[in-house]
Amino acid sequence: MKIFLQGHQHQYEIERIAHVFFPNESIEFVEKDDEGQRGDFFVESQFKDMNGSIYALTKIIKNGNIKEGLVVQKYNSSIISYQYTSLCKSMIKLSFYRAAKQVSQVDVPWGTLTGIRPTKIIHNLIEERKSDIDIKYILSEQYAVSDEKIQLILEVAYNELKVLKQSRPNSIGLYIGIPFCPTRCLYCSFVSNAVHKAQKFVEPYVEALIREILYTRRIIDNMGWIVESIYIGGGTPTVLSSKLLERLLYTLCTQINVETVKEFTIEAGRPDTIDKEKLNTIKKYAVSRLSINPQTMNQSTLKTIGRCHTPEDVVSSFQLARDLGFDNINMDVIAGLPDETVEMYQNTLKEIQKLDPENITVHTMSIKRASKLHEKINEYSITQAHIVQDMLKFTQQFMKDNDRYPYYLYRQKNILGNLENVGYCKQDFECIYNVQIMEERQSIIAMGCGAVTKLVNATNNRIDRIFNVKEVEEYINRIDEMLHRKDKIYQYFI
Ligand code: SF4
Repeated sequence: MKIFLQGHQHQYEIERIAHVFFPNESIEFVEKDDEGQRGDFFVESQFKDMNGSIYALTKIIKNGNIKEGLVVQKYNSSIISYQYTSLCKSMIKLSFYRAAKQVSQVDVPWGTLTGIRPTKIIHNLIEERKSDIDIKYILSEQYAVSDEKIQLILEVAYNELKVLKQSRPNSIGLYIGIPFCPTRCLYCSFVSNAVHKAQKFVEPYVEALIREILYTRRIIDNMGWIVESIYIGGGTPTVLSSKLLERLLYTLCTQINVETVKEFTIEAGRPDTIDKEKLNTIKKYAVSRLSINPQTMNQSTLKTIGRCHTPEDVVSSFQLARDLGFDNINMDVIAGLPDETVEMYQNTLKEIQKLDPENITVHTMSIKRASKLHEKINEYSITQAHIVQDMLKFTQQFMKDNDRYPYYLYRQKNILGNLENVGYCKQDFECIYNVQIMEERQSIIAMGCGAVTKLVNATNNRIDRIFNVKEVEEYINRIDEMLHRKDKIYQYFI
């Protein structure tokens, strides 16, 4: 597909929306509209601003047929610069959407919303005191979002606000990463090392991490911050031995004022890493939320995606955690795993429902560049977009029928069907950390290899990031440098 832009330079926006409709096309932007060079699939995206009105026109010419999408939008002359830019981008995307809809058979329920955090748009509209009717109208008319997704996103946005309102202004979240797993899942793109290959690094890694926790604790004290939530993720933290878990949790709980911590999550993602001794250790240190993640309850799929546990392991680990008193458990599942039918996915949800966890997080399969799946894509059967849509439709009704409501939502690049990931929970079991990381209203101080600290400065609306190195060995060897990178926090908040 060749694309010619006239009157604007919003290549990125056009590329994102073009990928949604034409995922298999390679895109080339051309400098000149030279008829001889157009080829069989040519797009012309025009933009003009005339007397307080924006005109965006997209023409798609495919195999000699021309389809057009026109948008004309008046704007108020008092509009501020960044709002004007954002309006122009939206209108350009909408004109592309209108033309592409006539050419492609692809159903695009999120319309022109291609960003990761759609709830931010709703929160801005709520802050502008727009009514629900106005918000629905804007989502439908300006962004072409389907009624079903409008209903979902509005519900999520209000539920998130409930969580955000309860945070104190000087509160922060802490993230600690453990980059080891029993094996690497087919779709994984996280910083994760198969523990049997990286065993010699495990203990030195925990020692380096403890140094980072001690250093960070001083910064937290100096900044006068209050820790609202702690999240130990990865990787699979419960791959650590009980002794190392104890060492890590003891350090955290003696260094951080856990009195103010409203939520303390540890991912026990792979059921085959959990045993009674580890769970007892975790329980001793005020961990309030566990995440046990089956991803699927179908044995054949577990094998395909490279996980060594069985559905029965999921059930027994969950029951063990319940018996030991864990009363807030999340379970992650994935819609659209290779070779899964709608019935298989439904089976997963039904089996999980029997365990009755407080949270169920439904991710839509996403094919990440750094995954084994991306590398060997031709060896797997990738679920078609309309099938994943049916899975998510079923999910929404299923959760409603089982008294769970959606409380956080995000989207990713390369997600099947351009769909979404949603956290569902029972009343008052929203995960604070998940909402805060998505909405970017609070700083999250992250530790460990691959950790990204996100600094949110509410006074000037700026967000900055501090990155740790991704490789385990490098993290251990360069720990002093990682500590000093965190000194930037002081400068950032001056
Ligand atoms: S459990 Fe999570 S972090 Fe570990 S390999 Fe699988 S997807 Fe990656």
